[in-house]
Amino acid sequence: MKPQSIKVKLALWYIFLLGITLFVFILIVYESFKFLSYKDIDQSIQTIASSIEEDILIVDEKIVLSEVEKPSSFSGIFVLFFDKEGKPLINIPFPYQKDGISRALKGKNSYSTIENKGERFRVYTSPIRYNNARIVGAIQVIMSLSGIERTLNKLLMLLLFSIPILLVIASFGGNILAKNALNPIDSIVDMTRSIETENLDKRLPMMSTDIEIRRLVETLNEMLERIERGFNREKQLTQNISHELRAPLTIIKGNISLALRKRRSIEEYISILQEVEREVDYMACMINELLFLAREDELNQRRYFKEVLLNALIEEIYLEFLPLAKEKNIALNLDLPPSQIMIKGNSSSLERLFRNLIENAIKYTPDGGIVEIKVRLEENLVRIDIKDTGIGISQEDIPHIFERFYRADKSRHRGGFGLGLAIAYAIAKSHSGEIKVESSKDKGSVFTVILPIIKK
Ligand code: ADP
Repeated sequence: MKPQSIKVKLALWYIFLLGITLFVFILIVYESFKFLSYKDIDQSIQTIASSIEEDILIVDEKIVLSEVEKPSSFSGIFVLFFDKEGKPLINIPFPYQKDGISRALKGKNSYSTIENKGERFRVYTSPIRYNNARIVGAIQVIMSLSGIERTLNKLLMLLLFSIPILLVIASFGGNILAKNALNPIDSIVDMTRSIETENLDKRLPMMSTDIEIRRLVETLNEMLERIERGFNREKQLTQNISHELRAPLTIIKGNISLALRKRRSIEEYISILQEVEREVDYMACMINELLFLAREDELNQRRYFKEVLLNALIEEIYLEFLPLAKEKNIALNLDLPPSQIMIKGNSSSLERLFRNLIENAIKYTPDGGIVEIKVRLEENLVRIDIKDTGIGISQEDIPHIFERFYRADKSRHRGGFGLGLAIAYAIAKSHSGEIKVESSKDKGSVFTVILPIIKK
């Protein structure tokens, strides 16, 4: 579809609707005026007829006309008299309304409209009674309509000519209205265009009191907030990755320089290469974890989800970690409900989630401690607690614990990458679940994973 300006569209719609409204309004005014004018005429000719009828002289049941009552045309009004046979009392050089006369002789008043030589007349006919009883004739009052029709035509012309003038005035008004209503949108477009990655912290000012514009500005500002947060997160991640890769690369570079400085024995070369291999493995492992995180973040992961039996999955990981726990003299306990728990998900991701949490619990619990895995069923979800009696996490570290590369112990640069919990968090989220932690320093931690279950 061709793009169109809302301003022009609004103004055109405004003019169109106003035009129709004006036209209908004018039609109503004109028709009402016409109706009332004709009603007035009907009333006037009836009043004339009755006032003349009262003064008519009747002798021997015959109408005797005085000079005044003879047919005359006074300002377009004619008064005619008829005897009881319906014959005019005087010769009239004027076509009268015969139907009305026969109706009047039967005792009925009537109105009608006649035409003579292109001129229209309104006619009122009523019976003339003797002593208010016997009908002795009829009276017909005829009034020319040319005066009122001329006035009505002038009125209609005047009203119709006023439509374009009013529309021109309204189109100026409509244009100003549309401009005023939509100007803030132009400013929003200009300001949004001026926001680049360098000034992502810039926000749009609230430039209007209109609710719709305010909502638009608020929505855009919220979106900018999300983009800024995401952008900063990615920037931080790039910095972290560079930082994490610098250490192994420095070691590799140091070892290569050492090997090249002078001729060395085979044993020395083997030892140097082994060191290099260790660092390369470390980097490869970190890159794999990062790639996993990037993939797990993809929202369409759900397409590949299958039904997973959680009891078996957790039991398998528990058995896997038993030897390590034993080695550290840690009591590793599992508390599973008897009923089977089915969830929809990716089994290898879910294994990774629980493996990371159990591995951490064992890693951060000193010898002789206890690690408990407790699975509880709630209405539509399953709650898995991994509780340890380990070193715990300080309150200031807790909000950051699921961030990528975050390690509570800043001095420790080897061991984990600080990606395990970020991966666990991403997996829980992609499975429509959540992960929480409660911990107190030197007392231990409880990591809780909540996942929706499939009800059978
Ligand atoms: P890492 O590979 O360093 O273990 P994680 O993302 O798994 O990375 O954990 C991030 C940090 O959270 C760890 O460095 C550790 O300080 C803290 N942490 C994780 N689990 C526990 C736990 N069970 N007890 C105490 N601290 C923990």
